[in-house]
Amino acid sequence: MSGTSTSTTVITNIATLVTNDPSLGDRSPLGLIQDAAVVIDGDRIAWTGETSKAPATDNRVDAGGRAVLPGFVDSHSHLVFAGDRTQEFNARMSGRAYSAGGIRTTVAATRAASDGELEANLTRYLDEALRQGTTTFETKSGYGLTVADESRALRIAAAHTDEVTYLGAHIVSPDYADDPAAYVSLVTGEMLNACAPHARWIDVFCEKGAFDGDQARAILTAGRAKGLHPRIHANQLSYGPGVQLAVELDAASADHCTHLTDADVDALASGATVATLLPGAEFSTRAQWPDARRLLDAGVTVALSTDCNPGSSFTSSVPFCIALAVRDMGMTPDEAVWAATAGGAAALRRDDVGRVGVGARADLVLLDAPSHVHLAYRPGVPLVTGVWRRGVRVV
Ligand SMILES: [Zn+2]
Repeated sequence: MSGTSTSTTVITNIATLVTNDPSLGDRSPLGLIQDAAVVIDGDRIAWTGETSKAPATDNRVDAGGRAVLPGFVDSHSHLVFAGDRTQEFNARMSGRAYSAGGIRTTVAATRAASDGELEANLTRYLDEALRQGTTTFETKSGYGLTVADESRALRIAAAHTDEVTYLGAHIVSPDYADDPAAYVSLVTGEMLNACAPHARWIDVFCEKGAFDGDQARAILTAGRAKGLHPRIHANQLSYGPGVQLAVELDAASADHCTHLTDADVDALASGATVATLLPGAEFSTRAQWPDARRLLDAGVTVALSTDCNPGSSFTSSVPFCIALAVRDMGMTPDEAVWAATAGGAAALRRDDVGRVGVGARADLVLLDAPSHVHLAYRPGVPLVTGVWRRGVRVV
């Protein structure tokens, strides 16, 4: 194939191949090719097309009439943590409302944990996500809230992914409860200096009870000056300035987007900021669903992600989020699958993942179903039966 010494593999007899390339196959946004084949050369995709036209390769895998799609790109998670919030979830499902304050419980447990405990917990949930088809993931700090604890969380995360986000501004540290301005100074000063070398992104929870618009602007601007690119937890629990700020600062993503004014939707439609919807959070807090249909109809780029965290969305399953988005947020199955693959890549400003095209990373999911639609049609069923990451079959 390419003349390199790596081996080549063809996956043939794919009933439905999702490429996310609208110039291919049925010319839809998913670029669906029927009776398809994919050739992997080393860690990259080398060829896609109909099985009958596939070139000769070293190895051959028969997909058996099943569907293949790009590995999921989970662009929002909080996986460097310790402890458990079962009791809080149980209480909430028994009638108590969710507020941002529960994060403090996880902060205390995370500070008390060893590096080894945090890393073992992280890899456990990464393996869990991989088995469900996630091949690219972002994860954040935010449960340390001291210079030492935030920087070690990012160091641990960076050993497992390139998509690492500094979230010292998750909530005001309990140590600074009487002086939030001093905490913002720490987050934008000494803590930022310690954390920036380990991260690509900076994030802030812009919400009542966390950080207001002015604080969020100061934090993201300081991060940008240190080479970190912004993303924002915006408009999750209430209306607020987060989405507008995200667009103004060219944040890669405004995440949650549950409470939006028409002006917020217009702003998202006019900029490059992706609206990342996190239905696991609404599911796990019995909250109002974000209106994906409204965003899509306005021309906004939408991503779907798990928000996997021990408090408000303890799922690592992108297929579960796809099913929720289709059932309760007005997305079609095609839109939800696009949002969980190409949409996630857009939210991370990546073009090498989230698609099955020549030159893309060979990250693939094989479903035990003939079509990607089954991800929504058969909710809760473990359909992922094969996963390739960087050309290596790992599931
Ligand atoms: Zn989050």
